[in-house]
Amino acid sequence: MPTPALADRFSDRLPTPVRDEATQVSRLLGELQGRVDWSAVIATGTPWVDAVRRQPAPFWAMESLLREYPISSAEGLALMRLAEALLRVPDTETALALTADQLGRADFSGHAADAHGQAHPMLSGLASQAIHLSKKLLPEDGEDAHGGGLLQRLGAKTVVAATVRAIQLLGRQFVLGQSIAEALTRADANRREHALIRHSFDMLGEGARTDADALHYGRAYANAIRAIAAKGRPARPEDGDGISIKLSALDARYEPAQFATVARRLMPRLLDLVNAAAAANINLTIDAEESERLELSLVVLDLLAAHVAATFPQWQGLGLAIQAYQTRAPEVIDEVTAIARRHGLRFMVRLVKGAYWDGEIKRAQELGLPGYPVWTDKRHTDLSYLACAQRLLAAPEIYPQFATHNAGTIAAILERAKAHGTPFELQRLHGMGEGIYREVMRRPDAPPLRIYAPVGEHRDLLAYLVRRLLENGANSSFVHQLADEAVTPQMLLASPLRAPSRSVLPMPLQLFGAVRANSKGLDLAAERERLPLLAALAVPMPAAPTDASVEGAAAAMDALHAAHRGWNATPLADRCAVLLRAADALERRTSEFAGLLAQEGGKTLGDAVAEIREAVDFCRYYAEQAAARLAPQTLPGPTGERNELRLHGRGVFVCISPWNFPLAIFAGQVVAALVAGNTVAAKPAEQTPRVAQRFVELLHDAGLPLAALALVCGPGETVGAALVAHPSCAGVCFTGSTQVAKAINRTLAQSDGPIVPLIAETGGLNAMLVDSSALPEQVVDAVVQSAFRSAGQRCSALRLLCLHESVADKVLEMVAGAMAELVCGDPANAADTAQSWAVDVGPVIDAEAHAGLSRNIARLEREARLIARTPLPERLASTHIAPVAFELRSISEMREELFGPVLHVVRWRGAVDALVDEVNALGYGLTLGVHTRIDDRAMRIAERARVGNVYVNRNMIGAVVGVQPFGGEGLSGTGPKAGGPHYLYRFCGEQAVTVNTAAAGGNATLLAGL
Ligand SMILES: Cc1cc2nc3c(=O)[nH]c(=O)nc-3n(C[C@H](O)[C@H](O)[C@H](O)COP(=O)(O)OP(=O)(O)OC[C@H]3O[C@@H](n4cnc5c(N)ncnc54)[C@H](O)[C@@H]3O)c2cc1C
Repeated sequence: MPTPALADRFSDRLPTPVRDEATQVSRLLGELQGRVDWSAVIATGTPWVDAVRRQPAPFWAMESLLREYPISSAEGLALMRLAEALLRVPDTETALALTADQLGRADFSGHAADAHGQAHPMLSGLASQAIHLSKKLLPEDGEDAHGGGLLQRLGAKTVVAATVRAIQLLGRQFVLGQSIAEALTRADANRREHALIRHSFDMLGEGARTDADALHYGRAYANAIRAIAAKGRPARPEDGDGISIKLSALDARYEPAQFATVARRLMPRLLDLVNAAAAANINLTIDAEESERLELSLVVLDLLAAHVAATFPQWQGLGLAIQAYQTRAPEVIDEVTAIARRHGLRFMVRLVKGAYWDGEIKRAQELGLPGYPVWTDKRHTDLSYLACAQRLLAAPEIYPQFATHNAGTIAAILERAKAHGTPFELQRLHGMGEGIYREVMRRPDAPPLRIYAPVGEHRDLLAYLVRRLLENGANSSFVHQLADEAVTPQMLLASPLRAPSRSVLPMPLQLFGAVRANSKGLDLAAERERLPLLAALAVPMPAAPTDASVEGAAAAMDALHAAHRGWNATPLADRCAVLLRAADALERRTSEFAGLLAQEGGKTLGDAVAEIREAVDFCRYYAEQAAARLAPQTLPGPTGERNELRLHGRGVFVCISPWNFPLAIFAGQVVAALVAGNTVAAKPAEQTPRVAQRFVELLHDAGLPLAALALVCGPGETVGAALVAHPSCAGVCFTGSTQVAKAINRTLAQSDGPIVPLIAETGGLNAMLVDSSALPEQVVDAVVQSAFRSAGQRCSALRLLCLHESVADKVLEMVAGAMAELVCGDPANAADTAQSWAVDVGPVIDAEAHAGLSRNIARLEREARLIARTPLPERLASTHIAPVAFELRSISEMREELFGPVLHVVRWRGAVDALVDEVNALGYGLTLGVHTRIDDRAMRIAERARVGNVYVNRNMIGAVVGVQPFGGEGLSGTGPKAGGPHYLYRFCGEQAVTVNTAAAGGNATLLAGL
């Protein structure tokens, strides 16, 4: 199998994922101009809608249940959350607590009948009764669910069992069979009802986190293809049943950055499946997943096509799903068509709208993209669907498969297809759209209908089920509105062929409203955006600044002291403007700084971009905060007097920053001190002076007077100590180890001069508490990111994972599998940029850190149980520490903070309060992760924990400026929190000025009656 480089494949053909929505919508409207007669669509679709409402399909129960309890309501949300979590909870205590917690938020009473006052059909009836009953019987407080009387406990357990049963039934609606054999039998029954019915079986399971899971899913696909093939060989793939596969199920690293792994590991697996499908002449379709995987999936398609053209040139069954909700969907269709043409093949293309819309929106906001990769108005997606359909119908290399439950979309497709006269098929999901398709398939000219048929057990159903519940319960979705008789057929079938509407969503860069711009990010999954960053790895680093002597440091302090008055007198608005100009300049120079961060700081590209954004955010946030908070304030008081509170810089601030965030922390400290009116002696870590130097230059270029900021490099023990001990030191802002913070504190205490403030941010023994309602896959993602990203060299990093004993073995197995997937390497390898991009874990900062960590790991090997260790190539042994996890017997065995990729794990049982107390007893208090679906429990833990930052059901690193103000308590720091609203005040002196305005003879204002 050839392994072409990923670079240079799309930069000429595919646009960037984010484009101006209005422009693109206008373009699509132009393409459809005069081609779709929407009045005909309404005429076709209205009778279908009426018929379904008159005579609902068997699965109507689900739709009407979700109409009663849409996901926008507390009840719908409770239903979804229970469906997502309850079935996987192994212990009764947690199941009780979870049910009580969720049902306690909802009110299901009085909903036992549908809009016509008729009883629900069996399914929704059972579900709502169970839920209703649960609500009545369960104690109010989730944590105490097990503490009630015997009767209550028996009642509660019964109700939980009923709720579990109801959710299983809900789930079953969407699954054709628990095994492929069962599904094939039911498929035969479907076919007996209508000869034009086909199926595409989907073996449930996605997003494998370990290779063992991926191999398991692979076997399920292979087994399914064999079983489908055994039913007989169709004349053409479109005539028979087929299979749909998710590439994220077949490889735990199906990510664009991991192309080498995809080529080496996924492709052979995929080829085996393709060979089997081709030999059986059945349709094999690659499902569409998150937008960041799109370009990769096109590369995979190209490779597969080359193989098929060489091996099975007659087979016409290879297929791909394309999501119309992506703004570049039309160009993707052009690209897929071009691939088919190039290899002389015909593809089967399933056109869908797309299942991950909410996730796409969140990702774009988190990454700070200039817009969204998906349309932000549902009608734009509908329009795009029609424009894409038009392209598919016109391409002879494509057999179009239109997957939708929307009557308007179906009617429009039928109309367009008639005009083209091309063969095509329609598709629906099992458990959805039954009613509409019952009507569509009654037409004499009905095309074939393929049912996407999930197969599998409950364990693998949950992610899929949640997507279906969201879809059925979302107000914008067709199936949801169909069940709501208040929505008239005209409304339901409203034309999407209208002028673009303005998005109600804020653009990712305007997340913070008019107050400040969000920092601009990059979509590294898009080649066009990635290439300039990779190119920057080849730019040689500048020379390092020379170290100052102790005398030089003292001289710098003297000069800064002399400059203070002038800088402090600079108008606040001008000081803010410097920060804003610096933010813009830094944003423009993202590639350059990313290259430098990778080379000097060992940062991965993703981490480098995130760090640059953080620095940009610091500049904008502190500028905004300064403008809002540091201006003089008039205070209330008696007449005849004016009272004003003024804030000013304290003098010379010494800012000492660490190497692990050589840009963000350095910049954050320095600009906060500057904007408050201080002059600053900035001492970067010895390991990373170049990044600091570049940023200082950038500040000066942005208009900061040279005299206001001095970069003073050198060792902490000598140069740093000299700065702190200098009589002009009016305050210290320090981020680093607890020991050094204490040493600085002692130095300051010994000074005979004024008592000056110390803002210290130090380390942490950060814990993550996981109970048995948590989703193991989510936990594993959070653990791996929090413990091992940046090689564990973050003060917020996870050090201590506390797993509930009922899920510990399972989660640990998955953690070990996910650790085996991590790639250690050099993120600044300019000779092999694809390799640089693939790196998850870079080097530790220096030989001293390496030696210290190695010593501690050797100790842990003696004292604790080794759980897993990431494989480390021999050539990296002296620079890298392989991510490693150890199990301890108890939390009290935790010693000091190991600043590297070393994870400690303990199991817990019993009351969660006691666990929190044990974590508190460690004395640190920086970050805490909590994984539970029991909302009350999460809040209770947060309240009890003595930590600065609590993260629930996510990773616990990467605090965002102004969103998650960062900093801890206890041994972890003094506060105030960086990136928070109280930070700047600590850099300020205060002065209250009182003027007796009546002094000169009397109170003129009062007498004038004003
Ligand atoms: C057979 C089949 C296979 C499928 N395979 C996949 C797949 O591989 N990958 C995948 O991602 N999806 C897939 N889907 C699509 C997905 O699961 C939904 O079923 C589909 O998007 C619903 O579209 P609709 O036309 O039935 O409903 P409609 O109600 O007309 O459309 C709902 C869709 O509109 C979009 N939408 C909702 N709100 C907005 C908004 N504010 N702005 C813009 N767009 C919005 C979303 O895509 C949403 O799903 C598949 C669907 C079918 C029927």
